[in-house]
Amino acid sequence: MRYPHSAAQSTEYLRLALQRMTQQNAVLHPVNYAVWYEYVSGLNPDLKAAVDTLLRDGGRLDDEASYVLHARHIAGLSAESALRIGNSVSSLVDCVSESARQAGDQASEFDSSLRRWGDSLAQPSAKAAEQAPGLADILSGTRQMQQAISTLQQRLAASTQEAQQLRQEVARAREEALLDGLTGLANRKGFDLALAASLEEACHDVSGPCLLMIDLDWFKRLNDTHGHVFGDKVLVSVATILKANVKGKDTAARFGGEEFAVILPRTPRGGAIGLAEALRALVASSRIRQVGKNDSWIGNITVSIGVADHLAGESALELVARADRALYAAKAQGRNRVSLAPRPQAQPAR
Ligand code: GH3
Ligand code: MG
Ligand code: MG
Repeated sequence: MRYPHSAAQSTEYLRLALQRMTQQNAVLHPVNYAVWYEYVSGLNPDLKAAVDTLLRDGGRLDDEASYVLHARHIAGLSAESALRIGNSVSSLVDCVSESARQAGDQASEFDSSLRRWGDSLAQPSAKAAEQAPGLADILSGTRQMQQAISTLQQRLAASTQEAQQLRQEVARAREEALLDGLTGLANRKGFDLALAASLEEACHDVSGPCLLMIDLDWFKRLNDTHGHVFGDKVLVSVATILKANVKGKDTAARFGGEEFAVILPRTPRGGAIGLAEALRALVASSRIRQVGKNDSWIGNITVSIGVADHLAGESALELVARADRALYAAKAQGRNRVSLAPRPQAQPAR
């Protein structure tokens, strides 16, 4: 775990990071926050040394420097850590928004009081004004105060708007943390979350979830023959086929390397086998263009697929392991085929 801190510790680091960011006039986006969080918590000595050197030489940690430090010292960040940071920034934004709203309400109330008081002082008939010459100064002071409050209100409104934008960016960053960079499918973390959610809603009355584990056949050979760039193109193409053929509550994910997975909630195993067979046939009939000196279309790309339907009480790990065993049975039987995980006699299909 990258951030082993308790809630109390992380709150303190949030405070310290915010202090530093304010001093640096830094924009409160997740990259800056990650840099300063790692700095103040002391868990990234290399980053700390780099920041200290930069500040010692009179430099400022502007956005550009922050992105460079982030790429160099934090980029290996796991999806889980990114989500955690996103959550912290999200609560920080909520906090800033709420404070701005409250301050705005109070300023508005104070402004109304001043306005009422100023109006009553300005009445020509007010006896008090004639008797006390200092009241003219108070009146002008009151007007200045009103002006200052109005400026403050405008700034608060702008801050609230920035906070809303930041919240949207954080939401987008959180979504991206669950996606695979090459294919745009759910990544391993996204897969784990989706599978956990589908198991949570699984019940005895309804079929599923079913799981498809999909592995490209002879992919090492394909890379060796046509190069990694073409290999990546094949991965994208298979992902596109998966994306186009799973819908609604289904999740297509890149499980890792050249292995994909599809989660099918509330789906009977007959339906899962049908889809697996359709996906297998679509990949087998696809042709991918290799751009280069020998511009050509490459075919013979195939996948093997293991299908498992969830057994009552089965954990995510066990379900994945059964689908994986079915996948390797498909490989052993000659590849380019679908294999179904056996279920115990006592467990009738749902
Ligand atoms: P099998 O039919 O038994 O699955 O054989 P295979 O060659 O597909 O399996 P193996 O596990 O031996 O090799 C997988 C290869 O996938 C090796 C690795 O270089 C390649 N690979 C994994 N991730 C990527 C990637 O992101 N891009 C590319 N181009 N290749 C990848
Ligand atoms: Mg393979
Ligand atoms: Mg593999």
